[in-house]
Amino acid sequence: MSDASKTTNAKKVFIKTYGCQMNVYDSDRMTDALADHGFSPTQDMGEADLVLLNTCHIREKAAEKVYSELGRIRDFRNEREPGAKKMLIGVAGCVAQAEGEEIMARAPAVDLVFGPQSYHRLPELVARADRERVIDTDFPEEDKFAHLPAPKKEVTISRGLTAFLTVQEGCDKFCSFCVVPYTRGAEVSRPVAQVIAEARALADAGVREITLLGQNVNAYHGVDDKGRQIGLGELCYLLAEIEGLARIRYTTSHPRDMDDALIAAHRDLDKLMPYLHLPVQSGSDTILKAMNRRHTAAQYLEIIDRIKQARPDMALSGDFIVGFPGETDRDFADTLDMVKKVGYASAFSFKYSTRPGTPGAEMDNQVPEAVKAERLEALQAEITAHQTAFNAGCVGLTLPVLLEKKGRNPGQIAGRSPYLQPVHIEADESLIGQILPVEIVDRAKNSLVGTIVTSKVQAV
Ligand code: SAM
Ligand code: SF4
Repeated sequence: MSDASKTTNAKKVFIKTYGCQMNVYDSDRMTDALADHGFSPTQDMGEADLVLLNTCHIREKAAEKVYSELGRIRDFRNEREPGAKKMLIGVAGCVAQAEGEEIMARAPAVDLVFGPQSYHRLPELVARADRERVIDTDFPEEDKFAHLPAPKKEVTISRGLTAFLTVQEGCDKFCSFCVVPYTRGAEVSRPVAQVIAEARALADAGVREITLLGQNVNAYHGVDDKGRQIGLGELCYLLAEIEGLARIRYTTSHPRDMDDALIAAHRDLDKLMPYLHLPVQSGSDTILKAMNRRHTAAQYLEIIDRIKQARPDMALSGDFIVGFPGETDRDFADTLDMVKKVGYASAFSFKYSTRPGTPGAEMDNQVPEAVKAERLEALQAEITAHQTAFNAGCVGLTLPVLLEKKGRNPGQIAGRSPYLQPVHIEADESLIGQILPVEIVDRAKNSLVGTIVTSKVQAV
């Protein structure tokens, strides 16, 4: 398409993203794919020619939100003035993959439904949706990443100094509560050269920190130019060589895939940030077995010991599910105990949500909602106490902070510590983009307050 036709046909796409960082990344790549076909992104649905909901199916609530939002968008479209430009409505992501036919039946206003493996075909699907209702939830043979255009910093809303980069997709682990293996398909790793090229392009565009993404990112086993499979640890060494790229993170990891090479990378690479999101889900071996997690509580703690030996200041984060079928008070007490032993810097916790088609949904010893709610409250109180203690331990330290953006108040800028804490600083916005030593002078509920200093940087 010529530059002239791009500007004369300028159309707008509005994308609303639900769920995990992989969906944020996917929304950016959809924006990139559509940019070559005359669409620019907008944050105002009123001016959109195409509205896309990039959806999440991980818990029931997340999926239900999509149907209510579709009703709202349909009403918005119907209330437009006569003669207003046409607006197509599309549903992408994991709800689209899992419930494609149902969406078409329940939401007649929807023009287009497509799953996560079809994003590279989006321009073609949108063109078809102009004429007929389209559904595309196949798992195609071709590599979608090889067909997606390179990331374009200038057209993307969510990229700034930090960016996501999906290196691995799908999951073969089949935890008994989880829909991911069904919605995202089998585990696939992107080739090393593709990942390095994308990281270089991001660094050239001014990105200073990348977060490597995957449903099981540390199961990464991409093929290099010599035909060798390399793991995430080795990939991190290669990425660390990229000039301009100052920080590397990755998420989400599975305990079983935390291998020696990755732990060594944490020991050796300053660019690899000392923050690890390593979900455990439960502290009870009985529940871990029923969840098909394939590790025990003791094995998880042993992995954490090894990581801390390699990188003593490693901040840990995790995911927990309360109220999995069969969970007793004793099992839940083991989960609280796990939080105490690890001393998480932060953690996410959820009530178990039955997902159709997963083994957990068939189990007959489901836990009542009220019990789940009570346990969630107790767990979150324990997690908050540890997060508060971790943040309090940072006061008085000097940490390298990536200065990312303007703060909420005038004269304030906001950045991130190596441990992913937001840091608010009174400083000039001309410093945005730099990584500077910041003395932490105070803490708020979920963030730190600091002042820029020139003295030596310390670790927790
Ligand atoms: N692959 C990662 C792992 O194995 O730890 C997790 C990825 S999953 C997309 C993110 C989190 O959602 C999980 O760690 C789990 O805590 C939560 N989750 C998944 N299925 C759930 C369900 N049915 N009910 C409640 N939470 C769930
Ligand atoms: Fe879901 Fe993670 Fe288990 Fe895979 S490893 S099934 S993504 S929770």
